[in-house]
Amino acid sequence: MLTSPRPSELFTPTYADVTAAAQRIAGHATRTPVLTSRTANEMLGAQVFFKAENLQRMGAFKFRGAFNALSCFDADQRRAGVVAFSSGNHAQGVALSAQLLGMPATIVMPQDAPAAKIVATRGYGASVVLFDRYTEDREAICKAIADKHGQTMIPPFDHPHVIAGQGTAAKELFEEVGELDTLFVCLGGGGLLSGSALSTRALSPKTKLYGVEPEAGNDGQQSFRAGHIVHIDTPKTIADGAQTQHLGHHTFEIIRRDVDDILTVSDAELVEAMRFFASRMKIIVEPTGCLGFAAALKRKDPLQGQRVGVIISGGNVDMARFCSLLAT
Ligand SMILES: *Cc1c(COP(=O)(O)O)cnc(C)c1O
Repeated sequence: MLTSPRPSELFTPTYADVTAAAQRIAGHATRTPVLTSRTANEMLGAQVFFKAENLQRMGAFKFRGAFNALSCFDADQRRAGVVAFSSGNHAQGVALSAQLLGMPATIVMPQDAPAAKIVATRGYGASVVLFDRYTEDREAICKAIADKHGQTMIPPFDHPHVIAGQGTAAKELFEEVGELDTLFVCLGGGGLLSGSALSTRALSPKTKLYGVEPEAGNDGQQSFRAGHIVHIDTPKTIADGAQTQHLGHHTFEIIRRDVDDILTVSDAELVEAMRFFASRMKIIVEPTGCLGFAAALKRKDPLQGQRVGVIISGGNVDMARFCSLLAT
């Protein structure tokens, strides 16, 4: 039976919200496989379990949070639809979810976003509004659309229903393989990490849980250590899904409470992990999706003999870019 959604947007989600999200997305999101690799086990001296969200619908875990958030809309909200700002996986997650739930979606994207992403988002039936990222304010544009058409804005990470939806990936992982000693999760704005933290503390409370960021964009690590949210300039990194400037209020509250530490890896280390996934495991993983495994490879000594989980967050990378990254 579906529990009715908690109405206010202003609550910090708990594991109960993750289990409610799991019921809402069941039959819509793919229950992605948990992959293993003998080579990876040998490299780390550990038993490694990869949750393959690169094989999720639209190619990333973002579908989980978007579908859960849109499923919680009331009748008026459904009629008016959703508006979101994103040039990446959140755009596609929201567009596909809206299409499946039969509601209109408007996605605000920078006009210099990759043409393929604009086409993919339109392909899910969303209307795309382009803006100039150097002269126009995206928040203002989203808000104007929301005000004019009564559409509900769904942010990419700092929203309780989004966080709860993202937490379903780690929930499935623990249900499938049992408790783990260590879990590595990619970190941008913290939706995936905070959701994973709720599932981890409920299902495998003793797990050491690490968020992993690109070295150039370590705002999460700085925030974790300072005890308050630190803002940085948009970082230059190949991990385009983790180019966030700061964590969210809800995500930070959970992360500071439930996460053990935030680690960083370099772009070169991401490329090595990407090469490993392609050549040894035969899977395409986008640079941001490699953060977790790159961190595991970097700190392999403490993992000896452990049961280790890695969430592979997504696989959306342009083939020409993929090939040129691997050629370096
Ligand atoms: C959005 C995204 C991330 C970061 O997720 P947050 O919830 O913002 O921390 C990581 N990897 C991929 C593939 C993404 O699309």
